[in-house]
Amino acid sequence: MTKQAIEDIKQLLSTHKKIVIVPHKNPDGDAIGSTLGLYHYLKKGNHDVQIITPNDYPNFLKWIPGERSILKHDSQTKICNGLIKDADIIFTLDFNALHRSGYMEPVLAESKAIKIMIDHHQAPDDYAKYMFSDVSMSSTCEMVYHFIDMLGDLDVIDTNIATSLYVGIMTDTGSFRFSSTTSKTHRIIAHLIERGANNSQIHNNIYDSNSYKSLQLLGCALTNLKVVPEFRTAYITLSQEELNKFDYKKGDTEGIVNYGLSLENIVLAAIFIEDKQEGIIKISLRSKGHFSVNDMSRSHFEGGGHINAAGGKSYLSLNDTVEKFISILPSYNKALNDE
Ligand code: 5GP
Ligand code: MN
Repeated sequence: MTKQAIEDIKQLLSTHKKIVIVPHKNPDGDAIGSTLGLYHYLKKGNHDVQIITPNDYPNFLKWIPGERSILKHDSQTKICNGLIKDADIIFTLDFNALHRSGYMEPVLAESKAIKIMIDHHQAPDDYAKYMFSDVSMSSTCEMVYHFIDMLGDLDVIDTNIATSLYVGIMTDTGSFRFSSTTSKTHRIIAHLIERGANNSQIHNNIYDSNSYKSLQLLGCALTNLKVVPEFRTAYITLSQEELNKFDYKKGDTEGIVNYGLSLENIVLAAIFIEDKQEGIIKISLRSKGHFSVNDMSRSHFEGGGHINAAGGKSYLSLNDTVEKFISILPSYNKALNDE
């Protein structure tokens, strides 16, 4: 972000504003953590602030301070659209293209509010007046910390802000183990702990809230795990029937894709999850090293994300989607085997 942009934003925020904050559809820990971190920060500046998510998010995020104030666009459409129309400023967090907000896209596109993007995904679209986009960042939460820093307000960080931002840095870095985790990330985390983030309790709230059924679903996913050794690839499928059998709830499949990547010699992992209601197969891709699942998803699965973590979708059946995936692997042979 340029010095001028920071000055402009400081100026903007120097008077009372109506502000809406929006994360991507199917929000994850970083999406909810970053919106809540920014929410608490802006509230301290005495603005009217409302977070609007496109839809619901997993229960393991439903304890973060301020979470109860969040409105969901799919179930409270009228109120949400009114707030978006009236807003002076709209922050869009943890996504890089308006269509990532799902059914909110048209109302966001039409809004006259000043848009500010804070995001770490590859290839951002040019829809915001102010773009704070940095693909080297571990998480949008880390970027919100830098944003607060750029505005000269690190002193303002309290327990609510610290707790919210800690959540997304932790979840997007796989608890500080992915290569996007830097010494700077750890310094920020240290500061957030100093400001009241209770690290062990946060970890417990997010990761130790499994139900018996969700663990059984994990067991089913691991039973379905297949390996394609010649392309150093592992993949998992979950059919709608299997999801139903284990009483699937939003968030239950989060992180399962990473088990494929934990296998020795594997550099590409995928999970294919059938969603009969949306009529799609939801795809998550993960990789190690330089192999870009962002490119793979953009080319074949209508999605994108980061080099080592991306999502996408397919309108084929579960079996046909897997077949398509296997059929494209040879075209990545060199990249997969050079890794
Ligand atoms: P996940 O596999 O956990 O859903 O997503 C992995 C990463 O890719 C996340 O950063 C997520 O925001 C991004 N992502 C997931 N689905 C899509 C998609 O359909 N399009 C784009 N551009 N990014 C996605
Ligand atoms: Mn993120």
